[in-house]
Amino acid sequence: MDKNDRDFRLNKRIFLNVAAIYLPTFTRTDDGGNFEAARTLLDKHNIGLTVWPAGGGKQSINSLQGSRYEEPVKNDKDSYQQLVKDVDNWIRNRATGYPFLVPVIFCQYRASGAAITPFESKLGAASPACLISMSGLNMNDKMTVLHEMGHAALYPDASHNNDEEVSGNLMQESDGRTFLLRSQVEAFSTAFFARIVAAE
Ligand SMILES: [Zn+2]
Repeated sequence: MDKNDRDFRLNKRIFLNVAAIYLPTFTRTDDGGNFEAARTLLDKHNIGLTVWPAGGGKQSINSLQGSRYEEPVKNDKDSYQQLVKDVDNWIRNRATGYPFLVPVIFCQYRASGAAITPFESKLGAASPACLISMSGLNMNDKMTVLHEMGHAALYPDASHNNDEEVSGNLMQESDGRTFLLRSQVEAFSTAFFARIVAAE
């Protein structure tokens, strides 16, 4: 068993559930192809991806309104917890797979980084939430969203892998990510937002 195996496929297919949410500060109306790229890559490892709403683009049903979201999200625990509670209330009776999903929130925020998965956004048993800024969609590999989902799955590990010998793996920080290591596939397979049947 090589944890660095890059062709590892799960024996039994699992599905990851995502709720795509847009805040008013994110003025694009799409995910920049990140969900489709994630789906294609995950499928090589026998992992499915269910995105609510279908397609993952901005619609009225997944646009969170509210005066506090007219400004970038502040970089403190109270703000992250408030955001995740508001998202949770919004998707509770709507989103596929609820509550076993990870919110991917397209928004601008004060913290540094083109995309972040702040540990302070963790609520109860759920994974921390992924926040994707507009500059996060500039990566050519379109792996920004899946990389952040990797952080959510690997929590609480410090989970970057910038080792040269596994250059191109999902959890490297630079562009050009094309495969998951076995250890990363296994982390997804036991994530809070993973299920053995496709959510309806
Ligand atoms: Zn990262």
